[in-house]
Amino acid sequence: MSIVPEAERPNPYSAYGAHGSVLVLNSGSSSLKYQLVNPVGGEAIARGTIERIGESSGIVTHRFAGNTTERELEVPDHGAALRLALGLFEEVGPRLADAGIYAVGHRVVHGGELFSRPVVVDDDVVAKIHDLVPLAPLHNPANVQGIEVARELLPDVPHVAVFDTAFFQALPEHAYTYAIDREVARAHGVRRYGFHGTSHQYVVGKVARVLGRRVQDLNTIVLHLGNGASASAVRGGVPVDTSMGLTPLEGLVMGTRSGDIDPAVVFHLARNAGMDVNDLDTLLNKRSGLKGLAGENDMRELRRLIDAGDDDARVAFDVYIHRLKKYIGAYHAVLGRVDVVAFTAGVGENSAEVRAAVCDGLESLGIDVDEQRNAVRGDEPRIISPAWTSTLVMVVPTMEELAIARQCVEAVEDLRPASGITAG
Ligand code: ADP
Repeated sequence: MSIVPEAERPNPYSAYGAHGSVLVLNSGSSSLKYQLVNPVGGEAIARGTIERIGESSGIVTHRFAGNTTERELEVPDHGAALRLALGLFEEVGPRLADAGIYAVGHRVVHGGELFSRPVVVDDDVVAKIHDLVPLAPLHNPANVQGIEVARELLPDVPHVAVFDTAFFQALPEHAYTYAIDREVARAHGVRRYGFHGTSHQYVVGKVARVLGRRVQDLNTIVLHLGNGASASAVRGGVPVDTSMGLTPLEGLVMGTRSGDIDPAVVFHLARNAGMDVNDLDTLLNKRSGLKGLAGENDMRELRRLIDAGDDDARVAFDVYIHRLKKYIGAYHAVLGRVDVVAFTAGVGENSAEVRAAVCDGLESLGIDVDEQRNAVRGDEPRIISPAWTSTLVMVVPTMEELAIARQCVEAVEDLRPASGITAG
């Protein structure tokens, strides 16, 4: 299989041309990220981040037309953050009136079992996202606040909620069920939901598109390796397993999260280390992973430590790689045949060393990495496996904001029966 040149691929999104731009908002617990996206061409027209919301000094960055505007000022809450962002669009550009906003897309972390696709927001949707707060106590409240403020400030355009969990609502029951007491699980919504769904779905679609194949014909393992990290096994476009669970804590070793551990570690520490639920939550979500093992959660810094002879950093790297290999092996068994292993997100796209280490020794599974191809850097999807392998190993940059923007357009168009637009 080879990559089909961009110019020869039909653009399934060209029908979106008439729709202007989509403002994509990602409200975290103490941050707001935004991007004004052209859903047809795929480019970010402008983007920005507002960090340290609620602290005495917030940091604001707005990028447009090659210029970066930076400010430091107090941003008390998400309402103030969004007002600030909208003010920067007016002051620095592009003026939103000129950008012709077609919709506002909100990234929402947890959709529980209620949302398996993007939805146009109304009061009922907001109430349901709020009902899901027990499943995502840090994220969903920030998402609700972001949606409410944005609806107030931009009342004339449709708002669409795009859920991180939606893609994985298609998981089979045997993959999403935890083997615990059924009644307890049912009463409290305890099951695997999976996260980073927008990214996994985007990458699977992109792989098919660049190979000139149908999604239905490909079995893919996606490795989304950012600060948070997750793996998925996708058969013919439908997920059959994923590494994150009830929350984004399960699975791979991450920047600051442990990923898989024996749940009895929690009882052990509660009984013997005097840690309460909040201490344990902080330990496993913020003081674990690469940071817990080596004091550093950024893969580039970890590399520097390893080069300087730091043993903890070397062990952290080895644990990170070992976990990834185990998931590839497991998902190989689940899928039976693997056509593509796709690396994406900050580490997956940028660290040739991680990709080589993960694939090292997997030749018997038909998985290998060509040293020269792996060393190539760039923003385009590319194949990094040698010609002989049965499985293609690829680097596929994820574009979550673009995927959200396109899903927004589809959700709005779905409400209009005669739109005639189909998703690619
Ligand atoms: P998230 O969206 O989860 O915050 P990203 O997908 O942006 O994370 O990935 C962030 C991580 O990517 C950083 O923590 C860093 O470890 C890693 N990263 C970025 N650039 C490089 C690079 N050139 N080499 C290795 N790792 C990198």
